[in-house]
Amino acid sequence: MSTVVDVAIVGGGMVGASLALALRDLGIRVVLIEGVAPNSSAQPSFDDRTTALGNASRRIFESLGVWAAIASQAAAIRTIHVSDAGRFGFARLRAEEQGIDAFGYVVANRVIGAVLWEKLQASESITLRVPATPEDIEISEAGATFSVTGSGGVREQIKAHLVVAADGAHSSVRAAADIGAGVEDYDQVAIVANVAADRAHDGTAYERFTPSGPLAVLPLHDGSYGVIWSCRPEDASGVMSLDDDSYLRELQTRFGWRAGRFVRVGRRASYPLRLTRAAATTATRTVLIGNAAQALHPVAGQGFNLGLRDAAMLAEVIANAGVADVGAPMLLQRFAQWRAVDRSGVVRFTDGLVKLFGSSRPGVGLLRNLGLLMFDLAPPAKSALARVSAGFGGPTPRLARGLSVREGLAGESSDRVAGEGRPSEDGLQGAG
Ligand SMILES: Cc1cc2nc3c(=O)[nH]c(=O)nc-3n(C[C@H](O)[C@H](O)[C@H](O)COP(=O)(O)OP(=O)(O)OC[C@H]3O[C@@H](n4cnc5c(N)ncnc54)[C@H](O)[C@@H]3O)c2cc1C
Repeated sequence: MSTVVDVAIVGGGMVGASLALALRDLGIRVVLIEGVAPNSSAQPSFDDRTTALGNASRRIFESLGVWAAIASQAAAIRTIHVSDAGRFGFARLRAEEQGIDAFGYVVANRVIGAVLWEKLQASESITLRVPATPEDIEISEAGATFSVTGSGGVREQIKAHLVVAADGAHSSVRAAADIGAGVEDYDQVAIVANVAADRAHDGTAYERFTPSGPLAVLPLHDGSYGVIWSCRPEDASGVMSLDDDSYLRELQTRFGWRAGRFVRVGRRASYPLRLTRAAATTATRTVLIGNAAQALHPVAGQGFNLGLRDAAMLAEVIANAGVADVGAPMLLQRFAQWRAVDRSGVVRFTDGLVKLFGSSRPGVGLLRNLGLLMFDLAPPAKSALARVSAGFGGPTPRLARGLSVREGLAGESSDRVAGEGRPSEDGLQGAG
């Protein structure tokens, strides 16, 4: 059996599934290949984690027609509280002071997965191959070819004009395209768990920097919190194996009492933290998006938001191509250019935060506390952070401006319209 498509997306996690949805009305042939069924407990993207979605991501999901279903199970972040354990500086940002309704929304990854895949499964224009993984990937100027084996053992040969790597930090498509990746180990492990306190949250998201790593406590839809506790690898197995009462006591000691008394904890899961950055986001007939292009430390909750903007911009570049060759070098070059500023800005910002707050060098602690204090007093600095969720520069994808992926296509291209359009809730116009 042999199938020819315009776009083959490998990886139907949070980013790949979003891209597939963004392409569904473009009249092109798209296949999405995903290794693990979306409702499986082994699904690595739609697992026990929660994700903080920024306002640009909300707009993209609105444009894709999935926000209403996600919003019904999301908690709005109305206040952000940042502090440094054992020191005086802290900063508090309030959404209403920035003239916005919320900084973002916290949603369970499983909810995002269920909503995206329900839409995909209802869409007749996207061919789904799940569970399946590509084998013998070969990429040349003529296109990408590989085979997948279906559940009945039938082998299918797929030929695509463009292959999109959305298969995560250990991307096999990235390797097949011969794109290298730099990996920097942060020497930290994130342990995530849902924790209930003795009082419901008020929409505050807390980020507390501790000597062993940041601790994030995020409001959830059911009134409880999503806790991301980053610690040294040598301490991680100890934290994982604590009984529930001991875990809650340790958490309370590290975090303090600002959210009340922690009374219950759910299942814990751990994630080693690294910065993985592909040397390029495009190669012959290949584009990398999401974690396949860059996997970040979760400290600022930016990885998926950035990956979703990758997907939104790629959909736009493909929409701009119309019926032309969607894997043409010019298009890929344009995608890489348009994404470069946002990508490097987010990577630098996230990496800088980890290093600034992870440093035990004399004087750095004082500096960052002065920084937090200044930050609390200086409105421009606050507004700058409040705008982070819109992206770090470069053209803003149409979808992130609340438009459809091909809106205004007749006469306008994204680089011309960036900076125009309706003002966003981030206080931005067009480009971030
Ligand atoms: C603890 C933690 C908390 C986080 N919190 C946030 C947050 O609050 N906000 C935020 O923006 N980001 C957050 N992130 C980052 C976010 O989770 C990632 O950026 C996001 O998961 C990237 O999605 P992805 O689809 O690119 O990759 P992945 O989630 O890794 O998905 C890859 C998909 O590809 C599939 N796959 C892999 N190989 C193959 C193959 N060969 N064939 C077919 N399919 C394949 C996998 O099964 C999977 O479904 C967090 C990360 C961590 C670790």
